[in-house]
Amino acid sequence: MSDERPVLGEGPLATDGAVANRSPGRRPQPEVDAPTTPPPVATVVVGGTNRRNDATGKGRGSRALVDDGGMSQTFDAVDVIVTKRDRGALSDAQIDWVVDAYTRGVVADEQMSSLAMAILLNGMNRREISRWTRAMIASGERMDFSSLSRPTADKHSTGGVGDKITLPLAPLVAACGVAVPQLSGRGLGHTGGTLDKLESIPGWQAALSNEQMLDQLQDVGAVICAAGDGLAPADKKLYALRDVTGTVEAIPLIASSIMSKKIAEGTGSLVLDVKVGSGAFMKDLAQARELAQTMVALGTDAGVTTVALLTDMQTPLGLTAGNALEVRESVEVLAGGGPQDVVELTLTLAREMLAAAGRADVDPADALQNGRAMDAWKRMIRAQGGDPDAALPVARETHEILVPADGVLTQLDALKVGVAAWRLGAGRARKEHPVQAGAGIEMHAKPGATVRGGEPLLTLHTDTPDMFDRAVDALDGAWFIAPEDSRPDLLPLVIDRVE
Ligand code: URA
Repeated sequence: MSDERPVLGEGPLATDGAVANRSPGRRPQPEVDAPTTPPPVATVVVGGTNRRNDATGKGRGSRALVDDGGMSQTFDAVDVIVTKRDRGALSDAQIDWVVDAYTRGVVADEQMSSLAMAILLNGMNRREISRWTRAMIASGERMDFSSLSRPTADKHSTGGVGDKITLPLAPLVAACGVAVPQLSGRGLGHTGGTLDKLESIPGWQAALSNEQMLDQLQDVGAVICAAGDGLAPADKKLYALRDVTGTVEAIPLIASSIMSKKIAEGTGSLVLDVKVGSGAFMKDLAQARELAQTMVALGTDAGVTTVALLTDMQTPLGLTAGNALEVRESVEVLAGGGPQDVVELTLTLAREMLAAAGRADVDPADALQNGRAMDAWKRMIRAQGGDPDAALPVARETHEILVPADGVLTQLDALKVGVAAWRLGAGRARKEHPVQAGAGIEMHAKPGATVRGGEPLLTLHTDTPDMFDRAVDALDGAWFIAPEDSRPDLLPLVIDRVE
């Protein structure tokens, strides 16, 4: 990753040394530049809990004397904030200090939220992003799967509506001989979370120790579980802060947040599915491309073979959005059926993962058709206490929305469908809220399909029928039906590839 390539972020560009980085009257910053040694990282320790914790701060105060490779430097959180506020570039030493000091509570939430906002507005250059990512990795443990008998590959999606791809993908890739260590999260807002989906399977447990994860990877080849507290704790704390301070959307912070966890997780290769469109974080292609390029560079620099696909999230993936509904659709894909777009994206990502892990010779389509992927799914679910043959939860009430007139469905908006599913109970507004396993939306047509007046277009599912009105409100303007000879101008499912 080149240091000089200017900046990333929502705001104006910042370049190293281009701008004076002090405000008048403040104590000058030491002219440190970049210790080249990266921050130490606790080595893995599958099963261990060791953490790097070399105390560098003193008390709550934002000032600390740091012995940095023989050069003593005094750090002050306000100076770090002011540097970025004034569009300067943070030195490596400043970044190492502020990330570590924030994790340990030496830098206060209000100081870090101010710095996050300055980063959102003024961006970071590539050296800063790379260093920030390393500092977040160094805040916790780093896993190591080198003892496994097969290569590892993981996939990360930046999140969308109806994005259940991880569910069929992980067992499919495992069935092709590559181990998949997937640390996943829960949904917040209109995008679903993989763990919420899997928790709709009776008995399934998200929490595994590092040893259990390693054993399951060895035996089954695929694991999808919650990330433990020891992995990138700096990110956990910072992400929660960004969530409540309007600073989630900074590309440097999104890239470093995602990649610190993926690099610390210890996968040998990584395929990123960067979603673009109304239902995604990134609404436009240029921003999505920048995020993809930044993450690919971070992964490559860390020795993880990384590629990214830019994929369409203007319309939901598949025909369902909601936890148990999406599990059902994933099982259909594993049984050799399922919606065409889910099958296409699952196979495309599987081919990328296999190629990145050195197994480009294996065709994953065979494993979908011959039942090997389904076997791996059942073993993966059973290994985590779930019953893959049990009936999935079903919502107590449904409500149908009918097609108003004959024509062609030209649009079905991902964000509006996601918000409606969320209001029906499929998602949560706060981390601690429960989700309804059966809630969500079934779509009976996708953009491009010819539809007939009076047929069902959407079926809404919930245990709380009071929510139907608010869900229907959220769907106002979500679809458009054009005359029968119309040909909608749709983006391809896979828009581009970045490596
Ligand atoms: N997902 C993450 O893990 N981090 C972000 O900052 C955004 C999405």
